[in-house]
Amino acid sequence: MGHQPERTCIGCRGVFSKADVVRVVSGPSGAVIDYREKLPGRAAYICPRRECIEKALSRESLSRALHTNVSVPQIEVFTAVLASAIREKIRSLLPMAARAGMLAAGASAVDDALQKGRVEMLVFAEDLSEGTKHKLLTGGLPPKKQATLFTRDELGQMVGRELVGVVGILDKGFSDAVWSESERLKGLLNKHL
Ligand SMILES: [Zn+2]
Repeated sequence: MGHQPERTCIGCRGVFSKADVVRVVSGPSGAVIDYREKLPGRAAYICPRRECIEKALSRESLSRALHTNVSVPQIEVFTAVLASAIREKIRSLLPMAARAGMLAAGASAVDDALQKGRVEMLVFAEDLSEGTKHKLLTGGLPPKKQATLFTRDELGQMVGRELVGVVGILDKGFSDAVWSESERLKGLLNKHL
């Protein structure tokens, strides 16, 4: 068992695995989210949840944690930037799954994989018709992991096609990774995806 580094959220003061909190560092124009964890310097950590972000940003505990008088972003801006970082992460994972041959793209390929019980996670486009969605969910063996993210145009771009209304992730590793990001986005935006 590898040792999981732990970090304290400056919002709730809870201690979490490093993978579950978001890294924030001091940039030239104020505190910035370092979602890929590449930026150097002293960092603060925040749970990607509204309550923690509000506390962390309102108390100005960021300056204290970063040991510098840093300008604190507005909660709405911080949340929007974080949400887009999470989307970007998913946007990079889906093409990787496709290149690995672990992604069924489009309704008929997904339906096929569903019939065989091979789909670990479904991602529906926001603009997919309810009828198609219903048909897919009732025709085969749908997985518990489902999310609605991106448009058909965006999903299409990720897999090098024109419009793709649904993708099915066929690999557990990829689906776990996409699922944890989509759950994070759900918690952050407080809405069902
Ligand atoms: Zn927290």
